[in-house]
Amino acid sequence: TDFKSDKQPTWCPGCGDFGTMNGMMKALAETGNDPDNTFVVAGIGCSGKIGTYMHSYALHGVHGRALPVGQGVKMSRPDVEVMVAGGDGDGYSIGAGHFVHAVRRNVDMSYVVMDNRIYGLTKGQASPTSRSDFETSTTPEGPKQPPVNPLALALASGATFIAQSFASDALRHQEIVEAAIEHDGFGFVNVFSPCVTFNDVDTYDYFRDTLVDLDEEGHDPNDYEAAKQVILDGEKEYQGVMYQDENSVPYHEQHGVTEDMSEIPDGAPEDAMDLVREFY
Ligand code: SF4
Repeated sequence: TDFKSDKQPTWCPGCGDFGTMNGMMKALAETGNDPDNTFVVAGIGCSGKIGTYMHSYALHGVHGRALPVGQGVKMSRPDVEVMVAGGDGDGYSIGAGHFVHAVRRNVDMSYVVMDNRIYGLTKGQASPTSRSDFETSTTPEGPKQPPVNPLALALASGATFIAQSFASDALRHQEIVEAAIEHDGFGFVNVFSPCVTFNDVDTYDYFRDTLVDLDEEGHDPNDYEAAKQVILDGEKEYQGVMYQDENSVPYHEQHGVTEDMSEIPDGAPEDAMDLVREFY
């Protein structure tokens, strides 16, 4: 697609991030976006390299801080399509606080997390989503704590769109990311994106054998109670849109941020708006 840059990824051959990124690029194109109106903010980690491999406006946030940067871009330029990308370590450990507040703020953007349940770039330490018995160099007997459930964290924080996909199920992954982009508000997708180098437990085969597709189960994402059930189900791994609030009102509509920055929204302090204009 037009979103592919001329940089060759340095990800390990077979890394799930290839499939995750391809789906993101296709989803952006399919939803009518192009590199000129798209801003990708990436975190730090293997996943964080994505801003280099995608052809669009892009920026690295510092570790765990991609979401505040992405929200800032969207608040100052509501006409731009903002997509934030990160990993499980980046987003659910050092960035967990920002995740909660970005979710509840409901800024109209998408957040795609490449969840491989390990720290890849720093060579294989347990991450917030690692299984409690997953043996790594830093946790020889496993982390011995239950993993973070990012979907439950999002739901408890007031999310209006929660989904999960699998990097290797290309069309389904693309379709799910498209739905997140088109959602009026914060579209969150947790993507199973296997690390073939440091995680020999949460592999392609594991997800192929265990993933349950919510569409095939007749799941209704507008049903909050049904969403809660699948999100809190500790037994199964699901892909699909778990929850979508049809009445979601994105932040800029709730607070009168206009697309034309020369218009000062009611109640906005003038000097603050002057500063924003000067900067952009
Ligand atoms: Fe992908 Fe893991 Fe290699 Fe990082 S270390 S590029 S996550 S396979």
